[in-house]
Amino acid sequence: MKVFKFGGASVKDAEGVKNVATIINRFPGEQLVIVVSAMGKSTNALEVIVQNAFEDKAYQDELNQLYDYHKNIVETLQIHVELNYFIDLIIQQLEGNRKMAFPKYYDQVVSVGELISSSILSAYLNSVGINNEWTDARELILTDDTWRAGIVDTTTTVEQIETKIIPILTNKHIVTQGFIGRTINGYTTTLGREGSDYTGAIFASALDAEGLWIWKDVPGVLNADPKLFNDAVKLPELTYYEAIEMTYYGASVIHPKTIQPL
Ligand code: ASP
Repeated sequence: MKVFKFGGASVKDAEGVKNVATIINRFPGEQLVIVVSAMGKSTNALEVIVQNAFEDKAYQDELNQLYDYHKNIVETLQIHVELNYFIDLIIQQLEGNRKMAFPKYYDQVVSVGELISSSILSAYLNSVGINNEWTDARELILTDDTWRAGIVDTTTTVEQIETKIIPILTNKHIVTQGFIGRTINGYTTTLGREGSDYTGAIFASALDAEGLWIWKDVPGVLNADPKLFNDAVKLPELTYYEAIEMTYYGASVIHPKTIQPL
C-alpha cells in the first residue's frame, strides 16, 4: 500500500489530471490512497474571495473565474461533476457565517478548493476505469480549533483512518483531500498552506504504508530552488533529520510538519 500525493501544480489543468491516471496505471495491483491539493492556484483565489467577503467587498467576479476554470477542466475531461453544488457551498459559507472570526471563516471557505479537485480527480479516474472511492478527509482527520493550522488528534485520526479506509482499499483506491480536517464540533479546519504533504504523511503513518510518494514537477529534492538557480543539483538521498532541518529553515519543497508522522 502506498500513499500518493499530488499538489496543485500537478492537477492544474486537464492534462495534469490525465497524467495522474497515467502515473497510477504504472502501479497495477497496488493499493493506493491518493491525496490531492486544490487545482492550480485555486487556494489563492479562494483566499481573495474570503478576504473580500470578510471586508464586505464584492467577490462574485473571482468566484465566477473559479467556476469557469474548473468547468473548463471538467468539460475537457468529459466527466460530470456538480460544480454548482460547490459554488453554492462557497456562497453558503460566505453568507451564512458573516459573524465568524476571520480564521474560522477562512477555513470554511478555502477548504472547498480541495473538495472540488478531489471530486474531479475521482470522477475522471473512475471514467477511465481506475476504480476509486471519493472519501471526505474531514471524516478522518480530527483536529482542534486552531483555525488555519489545525492540530491533529493523532489517536482518533489513526483509529478513523484504520476503520474506514482499510476495508475500502481491499477492492478500490481512495481519492481524498489534502489540507483539510474537522473539529469535534463539525467545523472544517485547514492544516496550513501547503498542508497536503502533511495529510499524506498522516495517512501513510496511520496505514503503515510502504511509502509516501509526493509527485512533483521536478526530478527530486534539489539543493536549491531550480526556478532561481539553474545549476541546482538533485540530492540523491536525505535522512529524515536533514529533511526536517531543511524544511525548518524554509525550504518549501515539503511542508515542515510532513516528516514527523513518517
Ligand atoms: N491547497 C493548499 C495550498 O495551496 C494546500 C496544499 O496545496 O498543500 O496551500
